Amino acid sequence: MRGDVERVLISQDRIALRVHELAREITDDHRPPRGGRPPAPAGGATRAEPDPEITIVPILTGAMIFCADLIRHIPMAMRIGLLAVTSYPGRSVRSQGSRVLGEQLGDVSGRHVLLVDDILDSGGTLRLVRGMLKDSGAASVRTCVLLRKDRPAAREVEVDYVGFEIPDEFVVGYGLDFNNYYRNLPDIVTLRPDVIGRSA
Ligand code: 5GP
Ligand code: MG
Repeated sequence: MRGDVERVLISQDRIALRVHELAREITDDHRPPRGGRPPAPAGGATRAEPDPEITIVPILTGAMIFCADLIRHIPMAMRIGLLAVTSYPGRSVRSQGSRVLGEQLGDVSGRHVLLVDDILDSGGTLRLVRGMLKDSGAASVRTCVLLRKDRPAAREVEVDYVGFEIPDEFVVGYGLDFNNYYRNLPDIVTLRPDVIGRSA
């Protein structure tokens, strides 16, 4: 598996530091205000109430590892909802359009939701899922991605927290896959072109 790696883009040490910083920012933004209300998220709050709870929704499967690390640095009451979305099925290295595969969200009505995804590419996934949560009556929907690709479509999507900006390349590791492999690599890496090109 290690032999398939072309280069390490972001090491596990850098990821760990940045995840910690993101968690601090998120915690600060959701803390019950002293005499005020929480700041409005990028998408706009539909109902702002001083509720110290948060509902975290990782977009599976890619955000699983990032979210597991992130939430252990957020010391506040939280619920977890699950959403499974596919956009890079099988051996795809470009988005094939986002589709919800399954959900176990619970009741998000009136709750402050933080969507957590691994990477922002075309923006299709976040747009789809943010709409779903708002339709379900979430009080607010904030968004957090570990990686944002350097391409115009990704910059057009409003997102509240971004871990790293990366070049427009196909990456794996730390939850991100190719054909459902490589998620357990601890670093964010690129794969050798012959690995991506070779048949299963
Ligand atoms: P978007 O909907 O923004 O185009 O893409 C987001 C989803 O596509 C991510 O949640 C992720 O599952 C997948 N994706 C986008 N870029 C990459 C990439 O470089 N590598 C991998 N492994 N998945 C990606
Ligand atoms: Mg994904």
